[in-house]
Formats: sequence, structure tokens, C-alpha cells
Amino acid sequence: MSDESRRHADTVITGVDVLLPGSGVLRDGAVAITDGSIMAVDSAAVIDAGFASDCVVSGPGIVSPGLIDAHTHLALSFARALREMKGHPVYDVFWPLELCIDAELVGAFARTSIAEALLAGVTTVADHYFYADATVEAVRELGIRGVIGQTIIRHDGPHHSEQSLGDGIDFAERHRSVPLVHPALAPHALDTVGDDWIVAIAGSARAMDVPVHMHVAQSQREWDAIRHRSGRSPIAQLDELGVLDQRTVAAHCMYADGADHAILASKPLVHPIYCPTVHAALGKVMAAAKMYRMGSPIGIGTDAAPSERFDVLGEAQAASAHQAVLGESLSVEATFLAATEGNAQALGLGEVTGKIELGYAADLVLWRTDRAVAGGAGDPRRLVAAVCGPDLVESVWVAGRRVVSGGRLTTGDEPIIGAAADAARVTLFDRAGL
Ligand SMILES: [Zn+2]
Repeated sequence: MSDESRRHADTVITGVDVLLPGSGVLRDGAVAITDGSIMAVDSAAVIDAGFASDCVVSGPGIVSPGLIDAHTHLALSFARALREMKGHPVYDVFWPLELCIDAELVGAFARTSIAEALLAGVTTVADHYFYADATVEAVRELGIRGVIGQTIIRHDGPHHSEQSLGDGIDFAERHRSVPLVHPALAPHALDTVGDDWIVAIAGSARAMDVPVHMHVAQSQREWDAIRHRSGRSPIAQLDELGVLDQRTVAAHCMYADGADHAILASKPLVHPIYCPTVHAALGKVMAAAKMYRMGSPIGIGTDAAPSERFDVLGEAQAASAHQAVLGESLSVEATFLAATEGNAQALGLGEVTGKIELGYAADLVLWRTDRAVAGGAGDPRRLVAAVCGPDLVESVWVAGRRVVSGGRLTTGDEPIIGAAADAARVTLFDRAGL
């Protein structure tokens, strides 16, 4: 076929193995991208003959859907390597420091985390934090997709106020048509927000068709407070309030018993998010495999320190191992699907990203297969799910934009981003008197 008769594509990735939805693999395949979306997926021979492009990226390698981190706090990169500090990470370490944070520091911390996430093959993050406008700026600058919520908190924690509810709703309203940004309503947790606000948030989320992203049953302190106040567990109380009939990204669900698991399993719009390293560090592990078996659509998140890294594939791999400690079985293939298709569903993006399918956003990762570590895994799906990590990321596209190439960030200067985060950390710790 002549060049003139071939269709134009902005980018063609060819001569690669392609991970298809579910468990399929297309060997020696290719993907054509135009206007930020996947326009064709076929054998390399068919795509090469049918499409012309000024940007052709050739294998060998494996193309997978971009990874999705369903629960994180990007600005908490300042809290890395604080594991030795005494007390509960949230209440005794983060909160006193967070009193001293501001929008400028949030932007600097978020940039280093976003850069790290992109370099680990993450194309979507679901972030929950204060000064969320600063996170949006960083998201758009570096080119990651963000499901962003402004933390709503009424009691107890830093930045709590009576204006917090209105601010959180206003943030979501203002970001409903911002490219790469998908707003969420982000109450901190039931104990720090209160029943009436939770009901109002669920109603607003329904009206705006955005997810509720919140911490659920994440600590003994929360469990005790809700039990004391309502006589119910946090999950039973959320059910009583009607929130669980709304799309809810339910981070942690660690302090839950069999009755709570049954409630969650009966709520198809509720996605419990498992964050293995954080759970292990806190000594309380979500019963992810059991809940998955019961029918809950489990998602995977990094959360933030003490997991230290924003590598959600690493967390998906850890999830499988950590569940084995509970005597449970959760395969790496299942946790990989959770970190792609599953997390997309959790965030209300099941028709947008998380799969390599026609019309989906071109949120893709090209994994290297020419390194020693890539040997020995057998088939491509197993290799990505069980072995791949940041060291094998060659390229990353978000909405068709190549944000990582040759294992380097194309949208920002990594040393400058890292140095700015270091300087911001000094400022924050100085302000906090540490
Ligand atoms: Zn969290």
C-alpha cells in the first residue's frame, strides 16, 4: 500500500506484544494512536501496512495498559523515610507536619511524586489532599491523568474547618471539564467528617456523577470513635447513611469483620482499595483475597509513606505475597488486573482507561524485554504482572502524549523537580520545628 493510501496516525507502536483486555496477548502486534485515543490494535503487519505516522516506535517490548493508583497522597513524599518516628503515621507524624504545609509546598512535593509515578508506568493517580489546586497544576504540567479530590475535614486533623465541605464541593465543580483531571469528593474519614456531612457529600457526588474517595475503617481510633458514637462499625455506619450505594473508593477497609465484609460484597459500586505495604507497616492487613472471593471489586493503591514509593505495580505484586501470609491466595494476574481495569472501574473511568481497546485513551506503557531481569518469566502477561518494575519502563503515554521516553521523563527536568522537593522538605520541617 502506498503512503497516500495509508491512514494517518499520530503514533504507531509496532513489533511488540500487546496485553489485551482480560487475559489475552497479541504477539508481534501494534497499536495506532490518534488524538489521544487508541484507533487500531492489530498485528504489526496489518498496522504497518495500513497506517503512516511520523512517530513510529518499534519493539521488541510489551505494551500494557497504563497502571492506575487508586489511592494516594502525592504531597506526602515529604514523609518518606520517617518510619522510625514514633506513633501512628497519620495522627502522630503527618498531621503535625501538615499543619505547616501550604499550596507551594504541595506543588513541589506532588511534582516529585508524579514524576516517580510516571517513571513507574503509572498513567492515572487518584489523589486525596489539601491544596488540591496545586496538585492539579502539577498533574497538568507533567501530564499524568488525575482523579483529584480536595480533602474535606471538619474535626481533628490539619486544615479542618466549617468551610471544608463547601471548598471540597467547589473544587469538584470547578474541575469538571479540565483536561486530564477527573474530580472526586474526598471526605477524610467518617470520624473526622461526621454523619451529616457524609450524607451531604454522597448526595453531591451523585448529583455531579463523581466518585466519593475516602478512608474507610483505617484505624483503631476511627473504629473506636464510630462505635462510641453510633454503636456500629465504620462500615456498618456508612451503610446506614446510604453512602455505599454511591460509587465509593474505599481506601483500606482494614478494621472490618465478617459482617462488614458481607456489607461491602453486596455493594457493587464500592471498591475497597488495598495498599499492601502501608497495611503491613501498620500491622493490620485488609482481607483482600477473602473480600475478592466474596465479590468485592478490590482495587490497589500505594497510599503514601510508609510505603515510600508511588509504584503501584510493585504494590500489586506485593499484594499477592502479603495475602499469602494470611493463608490466602491472590494471583499476580488478578492484582495486575485490579491495578488496571479494576482501578479504572473503581474511579468511574471504566470506559476511558485501563484497557487497550479501540476508542480508549492512549494511556500505555512500553516495557523493555531486552534486560536480564526480563528473562525467565514465560509469557508476556506473566512477565509484566509478576516481574516488571520501574527499571523496565521504556516509554509511557498518557492520552497519547509520550511523557516518558527511554526511561526518562519528557515533561519535566528530573533533577530540578527532585531538588525543589528537597528544598520544600527543609522549609516544612523548619516550620514544624523538627
Ligand atoms: Zn490515605
